[in-house]
Amino acid sequence: MKEFEFRELQTWKAHYPLLNKLISTKELVWLNPNLEKFETGIKKSPLTQDDVRDAEERLKRFAPYIAKVFPETKTMNGIIESPLKRIPSMKQSLEQNYQQPILGELLLKCDSHLPISGSIKARGGIYEVLKHAEGLALQHQLLTIHDDYSILDSDKFRTFFSQYSIAVGSTGNLGLSIGIMSAKLGFNVTVHMSADAKQWKKDLLRNKNVHVIEYESDYSKAVEEGRLQADGDPSCYFVDDENSHDLFLGYAVAASRLKKQLEELEITIDENHPLFVYLPCGVGGGPGGIAFGLKLLYQDHVHCFFAEPTHSPCMLLGLMTGLHDKISVQDIGIDNVTDADGLAVGRPSGFVGKTIEPFLSGNYTVSDEQLYTLLKELIDTEGIHLEPSALAGMIGPIKLSKEGTDYLLKHNLTKKMSKGAHIIWGTGGNMVPEEMMRYYYQKGLNLTQTKKNP
Ligand SMILES: *Cc1c(COP(=O)(O)O)cnc(C)c1O
Repeated sequence: MKEFEFRELQTWKAHYPLLNKLISTKELVWLNPNLEKFETGIKKSPLTQDDVRDAEERLKRFAPYIAKVFPETKTMNGIIESPLKRIPSMKQSLEQNYQQPILGELLLKCDSHLPISGSIKARGGIYEVLKHAEGLALQHQLLTIHDDYSILDSDKFRTFFSQYSIAVGSTGNLGLSIGIMSAKLGFNVTVHMSADAKQWKKDLLRNKNVHVIEYESDYSKAVEEGRLQADGDPSCYFVDDENSHDLFLGYAVAASRLKKQLEELEITIDENHPLFVYLPCGVGGGPGGIAFGLKLLYQDHVHCFFAEPTHSPCMLLGLMTGLHDKISVQDIGIDNVTDADGLAVGRPSGFVGKTIEPFLSGNYTVSDEQLYTLLKELIDTEGIHLEPSALAGMIGPIKLSKEGTDYLLKHNLTKKMSKGAHIIWGTGGNMVPEEMMRYYYQKGLNLTQTKKNP
């Protein structure tokens, strides 16, 4: 497929009237016309349930090592997992503020509180580093898959891994996960940070002996530079956020863990009890992997929606036009400037877009102002602190109820809603410094007050 050219924009607009609204950076909902029944969709997939199971097994092998080197994971026996919580007070507040009942339960998946790096990236990012480390150790016969992997916590292994390097491009959170995990194992690690990455994330990494290189441009450039560095050095492994199957599979493992948590909360998901999941989307790997894993388990009973900032709707644009990574938001005049730094991505992953296309129910966009308002509201109602990016999912049930009636009718869901459940994927926040969080809260508070007294 060729790249998008600006002179073709009028033709594209005629084909996709929603493009005008997207370009105007107004909030919108897009329902995926290419959604298929699971049965047919899965036949097109390059990845299978076996691949996800393999990733799950690998994480179990590493659990004794993780428990040893990250004591905060000890109570969970080295399995990096986050709580799933009902948020009834937030539900009430959403219903009041948006004058819209939300039928069914509302829950928050607190990836904001994942151990080690406090974001969704502690799934895919850490998994990919572990897989690479395992591969090297097996290849050099320093390890077998039947060993107790806590032996990796030794000078012998750290010296071995120090001969190798790892590189990644990031808006911040992926850098945190890859940096912390790689440095812990003993790798030389370089994180190429885009301009929007927060200073505290860079400082934290430098304190852990991670090499941080800063760029004045956006995420795509940081990735490109990381790739260049790795290309010139055979001992350097590049974590390719735009194309990596490993990252995707690391995220997908979340699904079977979530299934157990839903069972513990006695929430049924089946033909008559639909599950709706709202996932903030940057380049796509995190939400894509999780949605894929959930589809494998719940098939047509789960409905996944991606949420993106109005100024960075790259996945929506790629899916709507079918151009995937051959188009960027900048190509159509959107600036990719947002305070949701984890989502500040102008060009989506082509691999994720194509893989998730038959499974995704839709995408919607949300303004930065809305993110801050929701951030404040979640603190007031539930005492839970998320970073701005992580609030993108929170408005999902409102958007679906107000603007997704066609979808609900088409899939015969209208009458089942009251027995269903909505899960907001809270993708980050636990590591945000307190003063930064106070600033976010204040921003949300100011916006709420101007709305009340315009
Ligand atoms: C990275 C990130 C996402 C989205 O994940 P992608 O794989 O980039 O799509 C969402 N929320 C937060 C907080 C993130 O850091």
